[in-house]
Amino acid sequence: MSIKSSQKIIEILYSIQKKEFEEHVEEMSKPNIVYVTELTACSHKYVLRQKFSELIFSFEPNIILGSLIHRGLEDILEAEGYKREVPVQKEINIDGSKYTIKGRVDALNEEEQIVVEIKSARSSQGTPHPHHILQLQIYLEMLGYKKGILVYITPDRMLEYTIEYTPIDLKNYLIETINDLKHPRWHWECKYCIFNRICPYRVEQTQ
Ligand code: SF4
Repeated sequence: MSIKSSQKIIEILYSIQKKEFEEHVEEMSKPNIVYVTELTACSHKYVLRQKFSELIFSFEPNIILGSLIHRGLEDILEAEGYKREVPVQKEINIDGSKYTIKGRVDALNEEEQIVVEIKSARSSQGTPHPHHILQLQIYLEMLGYKKGILVYITPDRMLEYTIEYTPIDLKNYLIETINDLKHPRWHWECKYCIFNRICPYRVEQTQ
């Protein structure tokens, strides 16, 4: 028996990941485009992605694993009548300038008006996470839906949470982001931030 190492499949995964990144990299330099995930995160990431967008590219096993879990569950939900990877966007004017909030929900049940967000994680501890709830609430606000489901797939557990609509002041989150008023937004963010080596606001995690 002869065993040789190969990278044929890894190359396919890499080219898919790279293509997805390249499709968005130009848009990342635009300040008037604000992603839903940015409204739920440190505002300085929004500033730094405009200048250092190439730093965002990542080809790490945990990222690939997460996107495979997404794809797999989205396939299953699509077969059950859900729409997958649905783009959502909303325009908001701030002081005479037009901003477009953009996002993409993992899955959507149009008939029952339910948004599904899929999360893969190393651990189920602390779920549902506040930033994931906020992200789902923002989608509910943008779509005018009343109910969302947050699904967690972790190595030892599968969990889902039903999240009911709570009004969200989208404009306020947008102002916080474009004016860079929340850096960081969460106490743990800097530790995992791709910009933490160049960021002047980085704080050390306290717990
Ligand atoms: S290092 Fe912290 S403050 Fe700086 S961009 Fe990242 S999360 Fe924000």
